[in-house]
Amino acid sequence: MAKFKRIAVLTSGGDAPGMNAAIRSVTRAAIYNGLEVIGIRHGYKGLIEGYSKPLKVHTVSNIIQLGGTILKTARCMEFKTPEGRKEAYDYLKRRQIGGVVVIGGDGTFTGARVFNEEFDIPFIGIPGTIDNDIYGTDYTIGYDTALNTVISAVDKIRDTASAHNRLFFIEVMGADAGFIALRSGIACGAEAILVPEVKNQVSTLKSFLEDGFRRKKSSNIIIVAEGSEEGGAYEIAKKVKEDFQEYSVRVTVLGHIQRGGSPSVFDRVSASRLGYAAVEALLDDQKSAMVGLQNNKIALVPFRQAVKLHKELNKELLNISKVLSI
Ligand code: ATP
Repeated sequence: MAKFKRIAVLTSGGDAPGMNAAIRSVTRAAIYNGLEVIGIRHGYKGLIEGYSKPLKVHTVSNIIQLGGTILKTARCMEFKTPEGRKEAYDYLKRRQIGGVVVIGGDGTFTGARVFNEEFDIPFIGIPGTIDNDIYGTDYTIGYDTALNTVISAVDKIRDTASAHNRLFFIEVMGADAGFIALRSGIACGAEAILVPEVKNQVSTLKSFLEDGFRRKKSSNIIIVAEGSEEGGAYEIAKKVKEDFQEYSVRVTVLGHIQRGGSPSVFDRVSASRLGYAAVEALLDDQKSAMVGLQNNKIALVPFRQAVKLHKELNKELLNISKVLSI
């Protein structure tokens, strides 16, 4: 028997496709276990201001295929203060909410961790961000959909790049990490991939392009992660153009199309698994932890680890990307 009859769920930080599938899963798994569910709107702001609505089985019908989040999301400065968190606690107490599932990124988990150090209402996290930059889970919800969006855009750009012998720099999202760039770059056969985790990439790129010229490559697609330390796609394109006047250089910044759209099968299934696992974790009296996917199995990872430890790029993929772009 659970110690509580009611839980809450919220989405926080940047939105990601598959968040709705996770809300649906949390809601239905909780109701299946005899719990009531309150949906908190606008992230932590909603906990402080009391924006909420009850979630029933039918409220979450027909949302598994939708991008964005029906609960809305927000960045909330007040939750970073002890006073703000106390207001959130008072609200949860008033509403007799005995556990909270938060869907978001590392900022969201940092907030949840601090809250659980101060108060006794357990928080469990579900990793939801297109960036895939959270330690302790192989995949975050939204990453796979974002990758599919990137490659369908790059495939189209490739058609025009080869028709005109052009050198295209395509900037993708990923915050400070290169997960989107590396995986999408391999999937679309990019000639080079620039990620924040690897240093001095512009000079390596220049020697690579020199070689390519000798071998008369007709088009080149260079994927640039937005967090690359030598600049975004525009800056890097400018540096390269200085030495390669003969190339017709173009830049595309894919931007927010990467956040939207209907979630992929992989994201829908992951969200369904993780939502279910988050409710199980609350029922098992767990707190201050994230449910993640490790080697295709559910893992419970303390927030302390998920937010402190750094997730490394896959070295095998980095190497493969170099070998295959000869
Ligand atoms: P994304 O990776 O998509 O940016 P995120 O969850 O990391 O998602 P943030 O804006 O960093 O997004 O964090 C979401 C919210 O978590 C913040 O608006 C704030 O309310 C809360 N938060 C972040 N850091 C802290 C902190 N140190 N203490 C308390 N709350 C925090």
